[in-house]
This record gives sequence, C-alpha cells and structure tokens, in this order.
Amino acid sequence: METIMITWKKAWPTLAIIWWTHWNEVCWIRLLDFLKDNLTIKSWKVILIYGNPEAIAKWVRQVWMNLNRAFLEDEKLDSTQKGTYEYRRSRDIMEILKECDYSLDIHSSPTIWSKPMIICENNAIEIASYFPFDIRCEWFDEIDPWSTEYFINSIWKVWIWIECWYHEDPIASIRAKECTFALLSSLGMIDFPKKKYVQKQFIANAKYITKTDDFKIARFFDDFEPIKSWELIWSDWWNPVYSKDWWYILFARDRNEIWVEWFVEIIDWDF
Ligand SMILES: [Zn+2]
Repeated sequence: METIMITWKKAWPTLAIIWWTHWNEVCWIRLLDFLKDNLTIKSWKVILIYGNPEAIAKWVRQVWMNLNRAFLEDEKLDSTQKGTYEYRRSRDIMEILKECDYSLDIHSSPTIWSKPMIICENNAIEIASYFPFDIRCEWFDEIDPWSTEYFINSIWKVWIWIECWYHEDPIASIRAKECTFALLSSLGMIDFPKKKYVQKQFIANAKYITKTDDFKIARFFDDFEPIKSWELIWSDWWNPVYSKDWWYILFARDRNEIWVEWFVEIIDWDF
C-alpha cells in the first residue's frame, strides 16, 4: 500500500490528500479509484497518503493507538505510545507532510447522527467556501494539539479536515469527491466549475477530558446540539454537572478511558 504520487512536470508546490487514518472510515474508496486512474493535473504535485496501512491490513480502526493522536512532539508522548506502530507511522507521514504546502484530511463517521462539517483555520476559509458543507469550524488547533492538522499548522502549512458524514452512505463519497475537485481547482491544478456554499461558522472553545475510565454522558447528544444554561451534561462520580452557559456539543460519547477527549464545546463564530 504505497503512497501514490501524481506529478505534473513542474512538481511544486505540493498537495497531500490523507485518508484511511481510521480503517472503518471508507467514504473515499470510490474517490481513490477515480483519482488513481483519471486524475491529470495542470501543475503542482498531489500525494495520496494512506493513513494507517497496518490497521487496514488487520481490519481494525487502529492497531495500538489513535493515529490522529500520535502527531504530538516526542516529549509529549510517553514511552508506551512511542513504542506503537501508529507513532512510527505518524513520523513517516510527518516527513511527507514537511514537503507539502496544503493538505486535505478525509474522515467519515460511524453514525448517521453525525453532522458533516469542515474543520480548518482562517488561512483555508476561501478554499473551504467551495466545499459542499453547511458547517465550518475553526480554532481546533488550540483544542486538539495532537492531530495531523496540529502538526501541519506547526510547520505553517495550510490544512483542511473534512468529516464527510456516515461512512456507508454514497453521499459521503460524493462530498469527498467534490471537496477534492474544488480544492484542486482552487489551486489551479484542474478545471472544475466550483461554486460557493453558505456555511455557518463555529469556533471550538473548550475540550473536556475524561477523569475516570467510566465516563457517562447524561443522555444522547446530537453533534452541534445546542446546550442550554443549567442543562445536565454528565455525572462526575455521581455529582450532577450542569452547563453554565449556552453552547453546542460535539463528539459527545461515553468513554471507558481516562484522560481522553470526551466532548468539545463549540460556540458561534460571532459570539
Ligand atoms: Zn477519523
């Protein structure tokens, strides 16, 4: 499972497209087949990176740890983490990304209840406005200092991360394809009639970390569900914990691991 390079004669600058960071997120398979066989570019270079080949070979979401948590600096990872396949793979990907100027990271979700969205920083807003999404979220760099995007940001390159919706639905693949084409077109690599989308903007404001290995949310929360002031969110050792403000909840799930991300607090961009 080799990294695929598609090169025009002047192979610079370079765009990386990353997929399969998580083995079960397969919305891009049709897109990959299409790009491998049909993509001809007018300039630049495209590198197609398989995120986690060992997980793919083993049919597991991850082998030892979440690859998207392995992009931290060495001193922030412990020796167990540094002994994993995902750590070594993250270092290989980092070497590739150092040569790249832009990146697109494609993900999808195990549930139809998730909301499709773009996550990017200010430097990618113009390009992201051509992606077929209603929701765009910023400031994840502050909140998620361990992902592929955190690393790309640290080397001053431009990244866009897309959550295309439910893995198994063809709509997620169609969305991934349109984003890829809109990006290639924005960078002048192909001709593609891109169009602008109206997107509601949010900011990732805070992240909650589990404090026990048995963390339970109070009830099911939809992604971007509005949380009211004084709403019950969880019970911390049987003490009810209430929201103190109005905000939106994202990625809230029960977790059986301590010190991991448990949900993200999102607020309106024009708060
Ligand atoms: Zn993912």
